[in-house]
Amino acid sequence: MLRDFFIGLSENQLLNHAAQNYGLRLGAQQVVAGTNIAEMMESVKELNQAGISCTIDNLGEFVYDKHEAIQAKEQILAVVDAIRERQVDAHLSIKPSQLGLDIDYEFCKEQIIEIVEQASRDQIFVNLDMENYPRLEPTFRLVDELVKAGYTNIGTVIQAYFHRALEDTRAHRDMRMRLVKGAYKESPAVAYQQKQEIDENFIQIIEWHLLHGTFTSIATHDDKIIDHVKRFVEEHDISRDQFEFQMLYGFRKDLQLVLAREGYRFCTYVPFGKDWYGYFMRRLAERPQNVNLMIKQMFNKKTNTMIGLAAGAFVLGRLSKRGK
Ligand SMILES: Cc1cc2nc3c(=O)[nH]c(=O)nc-3n(C[C@H](O)[C@H](O)[C@H](O)COP(=O)(O)OP(=O)(O)OC[C@H]3O[C@@H](n4cnc5c(N)ncnc54)[C@H](O)[C@@H]3O)c2cc1C
Repeated sequence: MLRDFFIGLSENQLLNHAAQNYGLRLGAQQVVAGTNIAEMMESVKELNQAGISCTIDNLGEFVYDKHEAIQAKEQILAVVDAIRERQVDAHLSIKPSQLGLDIDYEFCKEQIIEIVEQASRDQIFVNLDMENYPRLEPTFRLVDELVKAGYTNIGTVIQAYFHRALEDTRAHRDMRMRLVKGAYKESPAVAYQQKQEIDENFIQIIEWHLLHGTFTSIATHDDKIIDHVKRFVEEHDISRDQFEFQMLYGFRKDLQLVLAREGYRFCTYVPFGKDWYGYFMRRLAERPQNVNLMIKQMFNKKTNTMIGLAAGAFVLGRLSKRGK
């Protein structure tokens, strides 16, 4: 129920646009590394100093205007420049919908090629984040076409909640892959709904990819999964160079450092930018404890407008559901 509420809010375009004018609020500053490149780079340097590499996400999604999509691409190219100039250990995570996937497939592909091309000159890897189900096939098509065109610095994500996850993992065995549980609300026709089923499928694809795939990024904050992976790689003598753990910026900071100190490759997903709202709402949906971050901020006067808007959207959502 709470999960559906926050996922509903994450997709609310009115609130998304309103949030862009308010800077980081509602506790988002704890999980978003600033609103500009300079702020974000400070966090990246700090993580690098602790032996952690980073994947940088210039926040933004569900863009329906070509001008906005081109602006997003320019910002991402500026991140590539910043990685090269500051010589940090980082790569890119990009969202196809931010680059125009919902406007025109070929336009989006051209934009992504520009990014991948520039990144490849600096040997920077580019990960295409996986969004919701309607964008799954087009995203696989994008990476497949780019690999066919000869780009080797590209990979994507498998979401374990999908019934087809293992099949997709097998089909992309030669690609560096991030494996996750999945963050969106999906229909039971295509996705497991129960945590236990999702976890079982997650373990299955992780094991398969570790044994048969190329480089595997295991992206989770779940101790049970992490402990399972540690045991599995020991038992199967899998080299630590073949995989890494990934977590989101601001989450389980202590565990991130422990894993890095234990000698595992570790990569933190570092989101930044003005478009923080949808990302932040999905994090609240995943973990109700994160709502504490938001509640603490509710007494901050500057956030009252956002809280008012959020409450308004919730009431409107409930009313419109009743009307149907
Ligand atoms: C680096 C990264 C990249 C991602 N990319 C994508 C993507 O491209 N597409 C997509 O759909 N999703 C993506 N996700 C989100 C992912 O799909 C999950 O929604 C998200 O990671 C939550 O699932 P989980 O595996 O972390 O564990 P959960 O199932 O949320 O939690 C399992 C258990 O882990 C422990 N735990 C979890 N969080 C915490 C915490 N903060 N503190 C203490 N204990 C905790 C608790 O015991 C909890 O019960 C990404 C996640 C990460 C980490």
